[in-house]
Formats: sequence, C-alpha cells, structure tokens
Amino acid sequence: MKELGTLKTFLSSPKKIVITTHANPDADALGSSLGLHHFLKNRGHNCTVVTPTDYPEFLHWMEGNDEVVVNNNDTHQHCAKLISEADLICCLDFNGLKRIKNLDEPVKNAQGKTLLVDHHLNKEIEADFELWDDKAAATAELIFDLIKILEGESEINTAIAEALYAGIMTDTGSFKHGSTSAKIHRTVADLMDHGVNVNKVSRLIYDTNSLNRLRFIGYALMEKLIVNMDQKVAYFVINAEEHERFHLKSGDTEGLVNYALSIKGIVIAAIIMEKNGEVKMSFRSVGDYAVNDFAAAHFNGGGHKNAAGGLSDLNLEATVEKFKSLIPELQHTLI
Ligand code: 5GP
Ligand code: MN
Repeated sequence: MKELGTLKTFLSSPKKIVITTHANPDADALGSSLGLHHFLKNRGHNCTVVTPTDYPEFLHWMEGNDEVVVNNNDTHQHCAKLISEADLICCLDFNGLKRIKNLDEPVKNAQGKTLLVDHHLNKEIEADFELWDDKAAATAELIFDLIKILEGESEINTAIAEALYAGIMTDTGSFKHGSTSAKIHRTVADLMDHGVNVNKVSRLIYDTNSLNRLRFIGYALMEKLIVNMDQKVAYFVINAEEHERFHLKSGDTEGLVNYALSIKGIVIAAIIMEKNGEVKMSFRSVGDYAVNDFAAAHFNGGGHKNAAGGLSDLNLEATVEKFKSLIPELQHTLI
C-alpha cells in the first residue's frame, strides 16, 4: 500500500481513470463515484464511471448519470477495455472483488494502479493507494477527505457536493445510525457551504416512490412479515412471482428490512429475496448484535456490523430453512 501523498504526485499529469463500485449501486456507491468523477474530470483527467450492474431510477438525477457505463452483456467488452487501458482504477465502496460481479477479472488483470476508498469491515483488496476506514459512515465521507488530501476543497461544486451528500444521507439512515459522528455533521455542513440543497436531495431520493412500490410495501408488511418475538428476529421472504406481480424495479425493496427492525423488541431483521435467478439477503441489527460475520460465514456476504448482505447458494425455500436454523447462532453474535 502506498502513501496517499504519492497519489497527488501521480495525479499531477492527466491520466486515464476508471471509477467503479459495487453491484446494485446505492446512493453512496454512485454518489461517491460521480462526486470523484466530476472532481477528477475538472482537473483534466479522462475519467469514466463503470458500474457492474444498473441501479435504481431514484439515483438518475445525479449529474453525470448519463455518462455512466453500465456493465451488461452488451457493454461488457467495452467495460473490460476501459479497465485494461486505465492508468488508475478507483474502487469505491466495496472491499472484495466478488462485489463487482464479472468486472472482477478485468480489474484483477489490469495493469493500471488501483485506488481503494471504502468503509466496509474486513478489507480483502490490496490497492496501490488506499483510503480505508471502517469507522467512516459512508464512502462519500472519505471521498470528501480524499479531495481535501488532494487540496481540492475549493473545487467542490454543487454537483460534487450533492452527490456526496446523497451518499452520506442514505448510509447514515438520514443521520440516525450509530455511525453518525460529529465529523460527519461537520462534513455535511461543509458540503452545504458548497451548495447542497438538502431538501431537494432528500425528496429526489426518498419521495419518488411509484404507487407499485408503496402497494408492495403495504402488502409485504401485511402478508409477508414473519415476527419471532422470542428470538427477537423479524424477516421478510419475497419470491420471484411477487417481484413480477408488483413490477418491482431495482431499489424498490430498499428500506423494507428497516420496517422489520423498527418493531419494539426486535434486534435482528432480514429480507430473503428471489431476484433475477439469485437469492439475495439483507441483514440489519441493532447495537452490539453483529450481522456482517454471520453474512460472511453462511451466505457469501459481508458488510457492516449492523447492516450486511449476501447471496445464497440455495433456492428460496432452502435458504429460508437454513436461515431459520441459524437464528440461534445469530442471536449469539454479540460483539
Ligand atoms: P443491503 O442490505 O442494503 O444490500 O447491504 C447492506 C450492506 O451490506 C452494504 O454495506 C453492502 O455493501 C453490504 N452487502 C450487501 N450485499 C452484500 C454481498 O453480497 N456481499 C458483501 N460482502 N456485502 C454485501
Ligand atoms: Mn457505503
């Protein structure tokens, strides 16, 4: 790992840069990527954001969205070429290459330097330049720090500030999670000085529900929420037929798991979901209950202490059975 100080020297002449982030990018992943993209582009670099998959429509308002290259069957060769030709590959908001789907091989084989900026526990990537802090509330917070390290705070415009603010707002659960530090509030104050309209960003992210999504949430709460008060666990199981019935799009299930965790007395919540031929899981916990190691040990996953996810190797029914059988273990993951 190289000192970040040498990154400044490295970036002192124009470079070809690819910025990538985790699959199914959320506001922190995309906001960090586009925030850094604008900053580097304005400094004269040739910069492209490449995402491993598409992302929800409620993120499309971010400036630069139209220039993002979304990896899919049609664009994969192009993405791989961009990565192989890059002088620098920025890996934002993920800690292991399996989080970037089939961009893993191109990144692994790339000749360019790598920069990792991330806040997930248990880092697996060794990059040439790293800004990794698992105490940070969001990768966007670290991008702001990085811009300051590169002595570029005065270059932060509204597009950069709003992209970073979106990442911080969502990864802190609107400044509610335990990760909400005094420093993050100071960062946000600085971002507001650089032009963030907090009401606008909040509405663009949270208040653009489709009626389908709201009806789906109502249905899930009414029919699909399984609550086990004795074990202090609540979870949803959503199948592929329900995805189709409610025309669910990327992002439509985001936040659902938090309703389960909001029940008084519940300390662990999950959502187990069949989607695009995969069984995806999200875990949330409160306080000292930790879900990241559990997700890593049993469901090829990881994340943060109180918010983690994973993918199951089994079908939906078998995954639910496996999850149920592991609940006693989950209850003893107190850290
Ligand atoms: P979510 O439940 O919102 O998809 O993800 C919660 C947290 O867990 C995020 O920090 C995310 O990066 C992480 N996470 C989600 N899915 C996976 C996964 O499949 N593998 C790993 N390692 N982390 C995940
Ligand atoms: Mn994040």
